[in-house]
Amino acid sequence: MNIKHKNKGPWTHRFLIMLFSVIMGILCFWLLGFVVNDIGSWPGPNYEKFEKELLDPGLIEKQKSLGDQVAEIKRQISAQSQRQTLLRDSTSSSQKTMNQLLEFQRLNLQKNVTPSAEEKQALAESQRRFLANQKQYQLLNQAIVQLNEELTHLEDGGRALETEIEKLRKPIKEQYYRLWDQHEFKIAMFKLALLLPLLLVTMVLFFKFRGGTYTPLIYAFGIAVVLKVAVVMHEHFPSRYFKYVLILTALAIVVRILVYLLRMMAFPKKDWLLRQYREAYEFFFCPICAYPIRRGPLKYRFWTRRTIKKMAPSSAEQTANETAYTCPTCSTGLYEKCSQCGEIRHSLLPTCQSCGNTGQRESARLP
Ligand SMILES: [Zn+2]
Ligand SMILES: [Zn+2]
Repeated sequence: MNIKHKNKGPWTHRFLIMLFSVIMGILCFWLLGFVVNDIGSWPGPNYEKFEKELLDPGLIEKQKSLGDQVAEIKRQISAQSQRQTLLRDSTSSSQKTMNQLLEFQRLNLQKNVTPSAEEKQALAESQRRFLANQKQYQLLNQAIVQLNEELTHLEDGGRALETEIEKLRKPIKEQYYRLWDQHEFKIAMFKLALLLPLLLVTMVLFFKFRGGTYTPLIYAFGIAVVLKVAVVMHEHFPSRYFKYVLILTALAIVVRILVYLLRMMAFPKKDWLLRQYREAYEFFFCPICAYPIRRGPLKYRFWTRRTIKKMAPSSAEQTANETAYTCPTCSTGLYEKCSQCGEIRHSLLPTCQSCGNTGQRESARLP
């Protein structure tokens, strides 16, 4: 039989393989991420365009012109207020002048000095200006009040229109959200259409080449794909569904591992089996049924795995002739003649201890 011992190599080499596998995994994950993101950037439905198609353009136009009117009136009010402020300054200064002239005249009258015609005219002029200012101020006030009324009226109209438009927008928005959901679903399907075949390929590679030379490559790529699939599922499916996907996947993995372990127990692999046989031979028990191998000098002895170590072989035992031997309990051949050198060899171990022949395996239970 040919036992393949895996060549493990020095630890630096193993470490580098590990390191580069991890790097490869990360790079694969990134690459998949870029592709998936590009798919995700596919433009979805445009709400503005959508609304323009479905909403009465007249209403929007009306809303816009109302907004323009409101802005215009607000501008007028602010201009009038500014004028009013300037006027107030001018009024108060003309009032000051008038008061000064009046005071001057009163003092003159006390001194019995009659005011000159010029002085009288100046006073009259300042009084006239003051009154004119006052009147204009009132006019401005009226204008502002009127503008404010107009503004309130326009804003009321705008609010009513806004409510009306909102009411019309509601079904449009619902339809739009439905469209957007469809778009998201489509993108998720495209992403999965990319990832699931990759996942399938990885699985096929994994089961076909597992344990081969290029296993780390398959592992790195496979883990990257599996993680990306999980991320995409998480992004696109509500956590309610994702929870089930996750738990079912975990369950599948755990069941797979359990089945693997159970199968290993039921149908042991070569290495395992060989180890089991080797240990049984060491303690002189049948590797198949664990019945003591009472052959040659041990014919009348009695032992357990613990006591056999203390049993020193007698000189007679050391020189005893070897003979073929079959387990009396399970009828498995345990020692037999080597087909090459004719010496007695272990039937269930791979190599003849005398000649090193590894070919004779008819009676062995090794697969
Ligand atoms: Zn047996
Ligand atoms: Zn031999």
